[in-house]
Amino acid sequence: MDDLIDRLQQVVGQNGTVSGPDLAERAVSYWDSSPTEAKVLVRPKSTQEVSDILRVCHERGQAVVIQGGLTGVVEGALAGTDDVILSLEKMTAIESVDLMDGVAVIQAGAILQTVQEQLAEQGFLFPLDLGARGSCTIGGNVATNAGGMNVLRFGMIRNLVLGLEVVLADGTVLSSMNQMLKNNTGYDLKQLFIGSEGTLGIVTRVVVKLFPLPKSRQTVLLATESFDGVVNVLKTMQSDLAGTLSAYEVMWNNYFSSVTVEGAHSSPVSREYPYYVLVEAEGADPDADEQRFQKILEKVFEAGDVIDAVIPKSRAERDALWSIREDFEAALPAYLYDISLPIRSMTTYVDRLEKALTAWRSDASGLVFGHIADGNLHIFVTPFDDGFHHERCNEIVYGCLAGLNGSISAEHGIGLEKKKWLGNTRSEGEIKLMRGLKGLLDPTNLLNPGKVIDRAN
Ligand SMILES: Cc1cc2nc3c(=O)[nH]c(=O)nc-3n(C[C@H](O)[C@H](O)[C@H](O)COP(=O)(O)OP(=O)(O)OC[C@H]3O[C@@H](n4cnc5c(N)ncnc54)[C@H](O)[C@@H]3O)c2cc1C
Repeated sequence: MDDLIDRLQQVVGQNGTVSGPDLAERAVSYWDSSPTEAKVLVRPKSTQEVSDILRVCHERGQAVVIQGGLTGVVEGALAGTDDVILSLEKMTAIESVDLMDGVAVIQAGAILQTVQEQLAEQGFLFPLDLGARGSCTIGGNVATNAGGMNVLRFGMIRNLVLGLEVVLADGTVLSSMNQMLKNNTGYDLKQLFIGSEGTLGIVTRVVVKLFPLPKSRQTVLLATESFDGVVNVLKTMQSDLAGTLSAYEVMWNNYFSSVTVEGAHSSPVSREYPYYVLVEAEGADPDADEQRFQKILEKVFEAGDVIDAVIPKSRAERDALWSIREDFEAALPAYLYDISLPIRSMTTYVDRLEKALTAWRSDASGLVFGHIADGNLHIFVTPFDDGFHHERCNEIVYGCLAGLNGSISAEHGIGLEKKKWLGNTRSEGEIKLMRGLKGLLDPTNLLNPGKVIDRAN
C-alpha cells in the first residue's frame, strides 16, 4: 500500500495525498459525519494528473471512487477501506468565459455557488440552482445530472452542458469540449457521462452555456385549498408569464408545518393551509414584469385558486421564504425520497402513500414537497430509526408508484442506495445495455465499482 501511495505522490506531490488520521478527520458526506475510510485520497491539480493517477490504479487493478462536494443523496461517492478516493478539490477554476457566445469552461471541482457568483459578476446567469449550492461541485452536478429549482425553465444540467472532458478508467483523456449549441456529428458522447455517477469516467472540465442575468424578479408565497388550485395556478403562470416562470415549488401542509415549528422558520401566513407554493419569475423589464405579475395574482385570486399570499418586500424577506423550502433541517432525521410521476397522478400517489404508511405503523408519515412542474416529489418519511426500517419504507414509497408511470429517482440518481430498485423504473433491456457500456468503458470495473449497477447478473 505504501508503494501505491509513493507512486501516487510521484504524480501529485506529497501534499497531493491525504491518508491516516488526516483522512479520518474528513466526514463521509454532508449527511454522515463518520470518519472517511480509504487507502488514500488523491488531489490532482490537472487533467494530466487525473490521467496519470488512473494509469497507476489501472495497472494495479485498484478501485477508485470519485468525490465532489459529497452532498449526493444516494451514497454514490461512498468509499470503502480498500478504495482510492479521487477528489477534484484542487481543480476549481473558471478557465474562460466567452462574452460573445455566452459560454464558460469550468474545472469540475468548482463549487456551484462560486461559479454562479463569478459568472454573475460578468453579467451572466448560470441557471442551475439547488440547496446544496454552497458545497456541491460542477463535476458532481454533471455526474448526477442535477436538477433543482430552475428546471422548469432551463432544464436539468444535461441541457446546460455543451461539452465535457472526461478521463476514462485506463487514463485515456476523452476531450469532447464542444462549444456550440448545434453539432450533430455522430453520437453525442457527453450525454453518456452526464448522470453516470462516476461509473464511466471522471469529469475534469465542463463547457456550459450561459444566459443573460435577469433584470427583474418577482417572488410570492401562495396558499391554496386544493391540489387542483396548485395545478390551475401553475397553468396560469405558465401561459401568462410569457416564459419567465423560473420556480414553482410546492409544499404540502405536513412539510410546511414541520419546518415552521417553533424554533425553526417563522411562517408569514397561517400554518393550516393544505398547500403552499413558492413562485418566482425572472424577466428583463422591471416595471412591466411587476405589473404583469400583479395582474396574474389578481386573476388567480379571483378564480378562487389562491386563498392567501405573501409578497416579500426585501431581499431578506425573499430569502426567508426560500429558506422554508430549502432548509429542511427541522424535518430531519427522516428517510429521504425523490420520485417522479405525472402531475395528474400526484394526489393518487400521496393518498396511497399516506394510507400505506399508517397501515404499517400509526406514527409513520411522509412529508411531501417538490418541483411539481417537473413531476418531481421529495418525501421525508418519519420516524427515522437509524436505518432499521429503511427497507420497509423503500417498499412502501416505491410500491405506491406501481402503475403510475413514475420513477424511483427524479434527480438524485441511483448510487448504492437505490441500486436494488433500478428495475422498477428501467427495463431488463435497458439495464443490460448499461452493463454493456460499463464493460466497454471500464472492463476491469475500477471506477466507482458497485454503484448504479452490478457488473454482471
Ligand atoms: C441540502 C441539499 C439539497 C439538494 N438539492 C438538490 C436538488 O434540488 N436537486 C438535485 O438534483 N440534487 C440535490 N441535492 C443532491 C446533491 O447536491 C446533488 O446530487 C449534487 O449534484 C452532487 O454534487 P457533489 O459535488 O456534492 O457530488 P458528490 O456527492 O461528491 O458525488 C455525487 C456522485 O457524483 C460522482 N462524481 C462527483 N464528482 C465527479 C466527477 N468530477 N466526475 C465523475 N463523477 C463524479 C460521485 O462519484 C458520486 O457518484 C441536494 C443535496 C443537499 C445536501
